[in-house]
Amino acid sequence: MPGLSKSRLLAHRQCPKRLWLQIYKPKLLSVTDPTTQARFNTGNRIGEIARSLYPDGVLIEGNNIQQALRDTSEILLTSPTRPIFEATFEHGGLLIRADLLLPEADGYRLVEVKSSASVKNYHLIDAAIQSWVVQKNGLTVIDTAIVHIDTRFVYSGNGDYRGLLKEVSITTKLAPLLDEVPDWVAAAQTTLSGDEPIIPPGPQCQIPFTCPFFGHCNSATMENKVQIAYPPEDLPHHNGLAAQLRTEGYDDLRQVPKERLTKHLHQRVHTSVLSGVTFLDPIARSQLVDLDYPRFYLDFETNAPAVPIWAGTRPFVTQVPFQWSCHIEDANGQLDHQAFLAEGAGDPRRAFIDNLLPILGKVGAIFVYSADFERSRLREMAALFPELAVSVNDVIVRIVDLLPIARAHYYHPDQHGSWSIKSILPTIAPELAYDDLMVADGRMAQGAFQEIIDPKTTDERRKTLRQGLLDYCERDTLAMIKIAWFFQQVNLPLK
Ligand code: SF4
Repeated sequence: MPGLSKSRLLAHRQCPKRLWLQIYKPKLLSVTDPTTQARFNTGNRIGEIARSLYPDGVLIEGNNIQQALRDTSEILLTSPTRPIFEATFEHGGLLIRADLLLPEADGYRLVEVKSSASVKNYHLIDAAIQSWVVQKNGLTVIDTAIVHIDTRFVYSGNGDYRGLLKEVSITTKLAPLLDEVPDWVAAAQTTLSGDEPIIPPGPQCQIPFTCPFFGHCNSATMENKVQIAYPPEDLPHHNGLAAQLRTEGYDDLRQVPKERLTKHLHQRVHTSVLSGVTFLDPIARSQLVDLDYPRFYLDFETNAPAVPIWAGTRPFVTQVPFQWSCHIEDANGQLDHQAFLAEGAGDPRRAFIDNLLPILGKVGAIFVYSADFERSRLREMAALFPELAVSVNDVIVRIVDLLPIARAHYYHPDQHGSWSIKSILPTIAPELAYDDLMVADGRMAQGAFQEIIDPKTTDERRKTLRQGLLDYCERDTLAMIKIAWFFQQVNLPLK
């Protein structure tokens, strides 16, 4: 039977079928996107930073597990006071590698390093497995802790990451879990000795992470299932209403009596779903048609990494803009496209704004979709570069947000209760869908940019990622044009 490791046991804890597929049908794994590599790189970087806090530590290297087990035993015997990184242990067929094993006078502290901003419940399971195996190897674990990112940290530059990591003891929370580990091991072994578990997709597919077999399981389910076209969850901000409607026997909005819905927005969605007719209030046109030319369609991409890269920024908190796309429309509907994507690994913010301001000029409406994001980045830029504050503030007052106009005056049944640009675009311009793009959302854009600025990335990969980012951001601003034109009932080709 295949052996177990901590990651395999965690896979089984998420879903027995996940572990079974991972071992026996690994070819069904979904293709990785740019975020996978970025996440991997981030984990490695945080591990390096954690280890740098213990300069006399010794790293158990290499993928040869038997050698790693021997090396760990030897260090414990010959250098009992040295911290060990990636200390490797096995017990009862379960293999683990501990991030930090720190010797103390009366035993060891076991520290797991995580790239999140807080301790999560699944970290406790993870640490319980580690601690159980270490203890079964005869070591006294006096404390188990999680080290995670402290979002209050402000990077001062020059590679000084002292204070980035925060250690939280979880010893008291682990006690009840430690007793459960043998049962988890036995259950995983039973799964692996049997046939493929029959488990349909459910909430477990996304918790704590999206299962890499989701594409496989979900497509198999879709083939066998009669789809509910408009579930009650399509009602925006439904809170408990969708669940209530289901308990009343309504699985599809079209079954719900009109008088059962009291909110105006819910009634509009219901009417649109029942009739199959798109709702477009002429007010949308009136709010747009008289705006000044040239018109600008603007979108930003930003990066807020777990390990800050640029001085003055905070982990996960400081959104550093690295890319913009801008389509410029003249009064005849002629379009010009301009774009910026930061070069190199330096702080991109000054080049970002210096390149943007001349493009936006002094007059004309600036369209964005969900303006809070762009406005906030511009305000931050004005604060960071006070000499540009007047010009940046002049840009901010010209912003026109398409999202509230869409939310108030447009609905198509296929939006399914969402007014995100990616939800309404297919209902207006299906030819501009994002599914042909290498980078297809903001999360992937962050991952792509982090991979681009990683010195280990090859030139060829960097070129591919840059093109992926340029295509993605341009698609966002093209989408805005289509939406704005549709609301004004303008029907021009995109050129
Ligand atoms: S996609 Fe869902 S059902 Fe399929 S293996 Fe993963 S967690 Fe299990």
